[in-house]
Amino acid sequence: MTYGISTGLEERAATIRQEVEVAATGAGRDPGGVTVVAVSKTFPRALVDAAYDLGFRAFGENRVQEIRTKFEQPLPDDARVHLIGPLQTNKVRQAIRLVHRIESVDRVALIETLAKELPKQGLRCSVLIQVNISGEQQKSGCEPEGAGDLVRHIMEVPELTCDGLMTMAPYVDEPETVRPVFSRLRELREHLQQLSGLALPVLSMGMSRDFRVAIEEGSTHVRIGRALFGER
Ligand SMILES: *Cc1c(COP(=O)(O)O)cnc(C)c1O
Repeated sequence: MTYGISTGLEERAATIRQEVEVAATGAGRDPGGVTVVAVSKTFPRALVDAAYDLGFRAFGENRVQEIRTKFEQPLPDDARVHLIGPLQTNKVRQAIRLVHRIESVDRVALIETLAKELPKQGLRCSVLIQVNISGEQQKSGCEPEGAGDLVRHIMEVPELTCDGLMTMAPYVDEPETVRPVFSRLRELREHLQQLSGLALPVLSMGMSRDFRVAIEEGSTHVRIGRALFGER
């Protein structure tokens, strides 16, 4: 392999896949039930393409403008772009053309804007509700107590599918510390499943430093940036 921007990517991808497998099987889970969302924010398109060639199909981005320029040249049909950053209502119209899933739905106003814009463009969208489990002030996401109300609003919009929940754990040195954040998101999902009758199959939780613990607590989608692509 020639030296280039994707040097080391293949090795890091293999390491991550192995760690996902170890964490899943150790928890009595099928490793196939865990999808790695390759978080490509701030990284160039060439790295996305290299990751695609290594088998990654879901890519996480946090800014609509960056998505627009990075994916001007469309990805292959089986690739998926997930918006994982906060979404302002004035960016909704653009966002729904560019992404397959919005993981950061955290307020009614956003759902109302989606309800208005999706039918206009003849589009549908998968969404996750982002929940601020840890209660940190600077984190986006709804309060756990508010998630049920958001599920109800989403269910009223035919163009929206509520596929589950997303959370970000606080930044800590020892990932074990944030285990309760992940178990609480899983418990909240069970509560909302009973409340709504929806399957809510997706638990998007776990990042580079804490994905092993998140998998042990039931994560179905780990969002991994630095451990795959390198430091930003
Ligand atoms: C940046 C980001 C990630 C990935 O973080 P890494 O530490 O690079 O793995 C995951 N989720 C969200 C919401 C992010 O903004």
